[in-house]
Amino acid sequence: MLKQCKYTLQSFEINNNQLMKVFKFGGASVKDAKAIKNVGSILRNYSNEELLVVVSAMGTTTNSLERIVDLAVEKKNFNNELADITAYHRNALKYLELNATAAQKLIDEVIHTITIEAVKTGEYDQVYDQVVSQGEILASIILNFYLKTNGFSVEWVDARKFIFTHPPFREGKVNWKKTEAAVQPLKNILTNKMIITQGFIGATDDGMTTTLGREGSDFSAAIFAACLSAESVTIWKDVPGVMSADPKRLPDAIVFEELPYQEAAEMTYYGASVIHPKTIKPLANAKIPLLVKNFDDLSLPGTRIHDCKIDHLPPLIVFKENQCLISCKVTDYTFVNEQQIGLIFQALMNHDIRINVMQNSAISFSICVDFRDSKIMKLVNSLSKNFEVYYNTGLTLITIKNYDATTFSEYRNRAGVILEQSSRSTLQVLVKN
Ligand code: ASP
Ligand code: MG
Repeated sequence: MLKQCKYTLQSFEINNNQLMKVFKFGGASVKDAKAIKNVGSILRNYSNEELLVVVSAMGTTTNSLERIVDLAVEKKNFNNELADITAYHRNALKYLELNATAAQKLIDEVIHTITIEAVKTGEYDQVYDQVVSQGEILASIILNFYLKTNGFSVEWVDARKFIFTHPPFREGKVNWKKTEAAVQPLKNILTNKMIITQGFIGATDDGMTTTLGREGSDFSAAIFAACLSAESVTIWKDVPGVMSADPKRLPDAIVFEELPYQEAAEMTYYGASVIHPKTIKPLANAKIPLLVKNFDDLSLPGTRIHDCKIDHLPPLIVFKENQCLISCKVTDYTFVNEQQIGLIFQALMNHDIRINVMQNSAISFSICVDFRDSKIMKLVNSLSKNFEVYYNTGLTLITIKNYDATTFSEYRNRAGVILEQSSRSTLQVLVKN
């Protein structure tokens, strides 16, 4: 009874915002003028709703900006790369028939910011965030102008005034308290305007731009949604929903109509790239459903990730490429013991490397990690002080969640398996390509 009462009170309070929704459009959904027009036609269907729209950088702009940072750090010329980014965004303006000099001027200002920030001295990650974040700024300016020109009542909002992060750069940790307080005034804007803002970016207390990690726009959408008690978050994608496998690899893959939060979170852990791994937690805590919808075919139902229980989920298969298996062999004829395992874990912590799978035998301890050239070589060197280290690159980790008899034997017996591990629900095999 008491619980019931509490719920009534809470929903009373949230009632005003029950209509508020968060939409996220990723790079592919705003990759050119045609795609941006499509975003406009999707939004048209929701013009009566309270809506906050989070947008990523257009197409592969983030990669191009990363390249600029690398060149700038090596004191190399990045004019060509910058010219490409400029032309790409100007082109979008042109094909959206946004000849408005105001839009053009804003774009040029952002391009100028990139030239200034790229050559500033400072820690690599700090410079990176100041430059790479501009992709989202550019995309959101263009979308905002397009919508405005086409009769939408919109307001462009700088996410860096609302999402606050603690260090480090490039992997900002959300300052939830400050962010939650900062976003509240957005509720007023939402009562009569659609908000257009950026994914992926935030700011430190002293106003430096930060980013939330690659592909972090989904997480931004979840942050806004959790802090504004949104009714739902919708991620608009080029796939029909969350699928049981990558359909490019396995054409028989099916689309899940619904999934429990836990299941979705675990899939992202194993490497499914459909949703950013950090997205689920804030939504699950606030019981906000996450919808994954197709931006080309609005009639498709998509996937609803929410608080539900599903008894017999079909097998879910995730391929994680570019893996490296590192085996640490003890050199003094003793067996692997806790002290040695401790050394391995300490080295992993020192190099900030996450383990995807681990396994031990009498004389060696093996770990499978994402292969990132410089990081892994540093790790291997440091492990070599205490162990005989062997490593294998170019591997693929295949995880089969909720396996059945057929998938279990199919994947275990696959050619090239060099390591396997299973629990009652999950099988993992590491294979040579
Ligand atoms: N534009 C950023 C990236 O490509 C963030 C995102 O797309 O979610 O990583
Ligand atoms: Mg992206």
